[in-house]
Amino acid sequence: MAKVTGCRLHIVHVACKEGVEEVMKAREEGVDVTCETCLHYLYFATEKLDDIGPVVKCSPPIREQKQQEALWEHVQAGDIRFVTSDHSPCTPDLKDTDAMHAWGGISGLQNDVDVLFDEAVQKRGMSFQRFAQIIASNPTDLYNLDQKGRISIGKDADFVLIQPQSPYTLKAEDLEYRNKISPYIGREIGAQVYQIILRGQTIYSKETGVAAEFPGEFIKK
Ligand SMILES: [Zn+2]
Repeated sequence: MAKVTGCRLHIVHVACKEGVEEVMKAREEGVDVTCETCLHYLYFATEKLDDIGPVVKCSPPIREQKQQEALWEHVQAGDIRFVTSDHSPCTPDLKDTDAMHAWGGISGLQNDVDVLFDEAVQKRGMSFQRFAQIIASNPTDLYNLDQKGRISIGKDADFVLIQPQSPYTLKAEDLEYRNKISPYIGREIGAQVYQIILRGQTIYSKETGVAAEFPGEFIKK
């Protein structure tokens, strides 16, 4: 459709290498198409799903280890433009059933940065520059969020300070979600978010937690 209409196209949640290859092929033909994947496709693999259960059910589904390795290569190469948290919350009862009937979706927002930093930079040697691109500058560039995405004069003073090499095990009570379920619970995460600054204002710190006053603003385009 993008080829016929000339419109810009961005494919979300690409979970297998065949998907990325289709996007790359279309790009070579001049179609303005990009794609992203989600952290859970880079972290979980089909081989372990029986041990984890319906909490990791999502759509498209988690793929095999082999696919995951191919996705990592495409992320490193820049073919997958960015890696998103994705967040599809549900009440615990919707996950507390068999895999066929359980809610399909993962609450991943809170652990996007720490898990991704651990997996990409600490475990796979991704450069800081590429990491900043896949979580900040590439998505903001694609959506023309001019005030966001990089540290530069005139941009919003948004920062995430990461404490590297500081493993912790995620507990349900650590989650700020209303429904405290996540496939990352019980996993050791090798880095921590130390502080978050939004437009110059600290909205989270490891010592004091989430600020009571949240100065979030809708970005109008
Ligand atoms: Zn989603």
